[in-house]
Amino acid sequence: MFTFGKKGIGIDLGTANTNIFLEGKGIVLSEPSVVAKDTTTDEVVAVGMDARNMIGRTPGSILAIRPMKDGVIADFDVTTTMMKHFIEKAVGKSASKPAVMVCVPGGGTEVEKRAIIDATMSAGAKEAYLIEEPFAAAIGAGLPVMDPTGSMVVDIGGGTTDVATISLGGIVSSRTIKMAGDKMDESIIHYIRKKYNLLIGERTAEQVKIDLGCASKEMAEEYGTTEIRGRDLLSGLPKTIEISAVDIAIAIQEVIEGIISAVKETLEETSPEISADVIDRGIVLTGGGALLKNLTDVLANDSEVPVFVASDPLNCVAIGTGEALKHIEIYRKQAKNQ
Ligand code: ADP
Ligand code: MG
Repeated sequence: MFTFGKKGIGIDLGTANTNIFLEGKGIVLSEPSVVAKDTTTDEVVAVGMDARNMIGRTPGSILAIRPMKDGVIADFDVTTTMMKHFIEKAVGKSASKPAVMVCVPGGGTEVEKRAIIDATMSAGAKEAYLIEEPFAAAIGAGLPVMDPTGSMVVDIGGGTTDVATISLGGIVSSRTIKMAGDKMDESIIHYIRKKYNLLIGERTAEQVKIDLGCASKEMAEEYGTTEIRGRDLLSGLPKTIEISAVDIAIAIQEVIEGIISAVKETLEETSPEISADVIDRGIVLTGGGALLKNLTDVLANDSEVPVFVASDPLNCVAIGTGEALKHIEIYRKQAKNQ
């Protein structure tokens, strides 16, 4: 009989980052979910970090693609190539094919889920199973997902925010909205263009969000200002301006409000028992967006529930997929019965 060795891997195929957990080792890979392609030859020229560094800097013939950008596979072949590259990097070329537990953002259709399993198999998996993102995030955050206790997890990634309440090993209520890190970056670009006539790139917007971004206009003042560079839309020339954390807080306000609404709506849908558990135990934030300054304060204030950031929020989902590998028999049985 096949016994499950240390060859299983868990993949968090995120819209911004892919993280891989190798059984017996832990997190072995964290790279941006980006592929750079030469459009004239259709050849892949870089994957992951190398490809990300090319965003906004590519010559006409090279395209940096984020194949999972909005939480769905936009380009099947590119996603497969990317996964193959990451799996090889994580487990080595010569190793026998791994069993893979793969996690994708919530809200996907059955067809999209099938496509991800197919991409994982094409990328070199021996067998592949899907785990829902909020569930993996909750496991990785150390929440008691199998207990008869309600937990609430909010995963804020690049393309999507997944909100879910979980109890007894299942998702009780959930929501996926396309308001997360990328939307914040876009809103920052838009705001700075309108207010300062300055065009900045995606990478600059993301960096300024990470450095100065704050969920509350009132609390933003203490984070001061920074200089950013872009192209002046009037003169067409490069220009440096000073912007404040208050500017950034105003720019991302709408996204924050969207996330708060999703949390409130999900809470309103849950049974009184689960609500009571969530009030007792608090809401746990995972994903890169959980690191936004003062988000816990704003969310706790508006939902009237305590809010915490999980430890290692960027890796929770991958850790959760790795933990789920221990119960792979259950996933095998489920797949057989389908
Ligand atoms: P995904 O699971 O969709 O790949 P991640 O959980 O890896 O996404 O989170 C990536 C997002 O988190 C990006 O939009 C990134 O800009 C954002 N992020 C990372 N660190 C911070 C931070 N300190 N403050 C605010 N946002 C952050
Ligand atoms: Mg994620």
